[in-house]
Amino acid sequence: MKPTSVEIPTLVRMKAGALDRLGIYCRRGNFQRVVLLISSGLPGTIPERAQFALVGQQVEIMRWCEVGSSTYEHAQAIFQSLPTNTSALIGLGGGKALDVAKYVSFLMRLPYIAVPTSLSNDGFCSPQSSLEMRGARRSLPSAMPYGVVVDTEVCFQSPQVLWCAGIGDSVAKIRAVFDWKLAFHARGTLVNDFAALLSDATVFQLMANPRRDLAGIRLLATALMLNGVAMEIAGSSRPASGSEHLISHALDAISARPRLHGLQVGLAAYLISQLQKHRTDSIAQLFDATGFWEEIRRDPFSIADWTAAFRAALDIKPGFYTILSERDYTDDLARIIQTDPRLKGLFI
Ligand SMILES: [Zn+2]
Repeated sequence: MKPTSVEIPTLVRMKAGALDRLGIYCRRGNFQRVVLLISSGLPGTIPERAQFALVGQQVEIMRWCEVGSSTYEHAQAIFQSLPTNTSALIGLGGGKALDVAKYVSFLMRLPYIAVPTSLSNDGFCSPQSSLEMRGARRSLPSAMPYGVVVDTEVCFQSPQVLWCAGIGDSVAKIRAVFDWKLAFHARGTLVNDFAALLSDATVFQLMANPRRDLAGIRLLATALMLNGVAMEIAGSSRPASGSEHLISHALDAISARPRLHGLQVGLAAYLISQLQKHRTDSIAQLFDATGFWEEIRRDPFSIADWTAAFRAALDIKPGFYTILSERDYTDDLARIIQTDPRLKGLFI
């Protein structure tokens, strides 16, 4: 086995007001000409603050692109239109803009700085980009960001449901690591112990202190970021994605209105924990403490969609061994969503 060598972010800033220091961070990295890819419809003064921070440090904004879609074609079109003397790309906003920015910077072989304005999933710091290709989501290889700048105050102001989604995507890692170890025993899939340990550790730290305040936002951002690093170490999505992600991917394909990724994988993680007979109560307590259940109760899931997704999950990634590969668990999962008292009101 070769020694593991990985890329990690060189710059990490997680604090209140970090957005207003973006220009300082760019100047320190010697990035004088940047392209800004920004989520369309960002609330408040976030875009202006980024602009002010950059211009105030004499960092030239070569191009300012609003990103409203994360299709592969859109990412390619941006890539082809960008000036060649750009020194770095900055992605500012939510999932789509950050995924497109990460992919475009990978194509351009340019340093990329991720500036998430909410923490609804682990995509802001991972070696993959989730883009739409012919109507379906695909994970494409990308590079790890050069920089991660999380303004905890900005993320704190984002809607509660996005925080809950981030909690859900984070808790899914426990299930993913469990599935990974099952795959080792059943199929000999190699487990990178360090990546598995890092992935587990990030979640347990969050579980010990699930507060929605500036310190809690920092903890969630750290958990999600280190999970991205665990994927880079493993050279696969195994530390972050297991059977719960297969169910969520199936839901994305089946549902007329798929919900936030983190809500889907979080709830699926809770269901899978009952099949794996592992940490069900600690996940439930985390969801009690963070208001996760309530966010779903506000807009319940469809039983029919979920039952169909349980059935379809196995075909999402053929050859990817998880607990769902052991036998057909469709009826067991359907029974849990009908009878578990904690899930009352979460499905219609
Ligand atoms: Zn995820």
